[in-house]
Amino acid sequence: MKQPSGRKLSAPPRNVDEHDVIFARMKLKPGTPDWDEYYSAHPLQAQNDSRARALPGLLSEHGANFHPLNFPAADACFTVIEYLQKAINHPVSEKRSDLTAAALTKYLKGWTRYLGVHSVGITELQEYHLYTMRGRGADKGKPVIRRHKYAIAFTVEMDYKNVQSAPGSPALFESSQQYLRSANIAVQLTLFLKNLGYDSRAHIDGDYEVICPLVARDAGLGEIGRMGLLMTPLLGPRARIAVVTTNAPLIPGEYRPDRNMIEFCRVCKKCADCCPGNSIPTDDIQEIDGVKRWRIDSDSCYRYWCTSGTDCGRCMAVCPFSHRNNLFHNTIRFLIRHSRLFARLAYHADDLFYGRKPKSKPASEWMRI
Ligand code: SF4
Ligand code: SF4
Repeated sequence: MKQPSGRKLSAPPRNVDEHDVIFARMKLKPGTPDWDEYYSAHPLQAQNDSRARALPGLLSEHGANFHPLNFPAADACFTVIEYLQKAINHPVSEKRSDLTAAALTKYLKGWTRYLGVHSVGITELQEYHLYTMRGRGADKGKPVIRRHKYAIAFTVEMDYKNVQSAPGSPALFESSQQYLRSANIAVQLTLFLKNLGYDSRAHIDGDYEVICPLVARDAGLGEIGRMGLLMTPLLGPRARIAVVTTNAPLIPGEYRPDRNMIEFCRVCKKCADCCPGNSIPTDDIQEIDGVKRWRIDSDSCYRYWCTSGTDCGRCMAVCPFSHRNNLFHNTIRFLIRHSRLFARLAYHADDLFYGRKPKSKPASEWMRI
């Protein structure tokens, strides 16, 4: 990967153990050695997690935003993803293709676009892209080894209307749908590369060795904003990411820091003002572990999910970068990214037209019961 200026403050140390991720902690079962080991080492976390466990829970019929059709539909998507996870360990063909990096890169990018991805990029896989240890699934407790040279990151668009209903159930429906769509594409690419004789791995919902937003940023797909999600140039955070790591020869792209997008986040703070979990910081960007970034409170965010029953997404819905992918909004986003003065004006204009705290939109007619 080429090193852009200011790179030092963009490359974090490798220090994220998946055991500390909320989804791994929520899989711990009382009375098991894993539970005792984790919570005796993290007593404060035990208190925090017991607050989340006391709530109805994600996809619970007792969640505040329960919907008798959208919840089972989302659950069906997550179940299909579990089947796709089983395909990740498909064997690698013994016969290796001798295609050039240029030919393979062109084909992969063309194919992913044909499959409907919004954006696709390639980066060299870095140590800091990887978790230190696996915290869930069959590999729980194993260290994550950097086995591959490259990572292919891609985004899929989340439907604007469904996202606008957040934290309502259509937003959960949409995120599960796009997790499934991205997982499907990632597994297809992985099996394709394995058929060509290159060890590869899909990183999909529930089974990641990499931290997807960091990989996607370095593959040139966007910046990481105040809410901690990848902000793409044309959809803002209204996208889901999947990654394929591989030893196939590929041509990496380049991360170009988007300082105006970060500058916009510094003044905007709309996601923080609208967050029902009070999980997004309102203060200025901080240097955390040697990296300039914002860090959301993932525990309070998850507690809100457990109250709602959905994965919320209100931050994504209100973000001025999430507006529809059309000429008007693309022009505004382009100007924001190229003019600090315009960025400041656009921030006020967004509040004027859409409101500082816009209301959630109703579900599509076909989802209403
Ligand atoms: S809502 Fe505003 S502050 Fe939050 S991520 Fe979007 S642009 Fe940044
Ligand atoms: S998903 Fe909801 S609770 Fe979590 S940070 Fe976004 S707005 Fe806040």
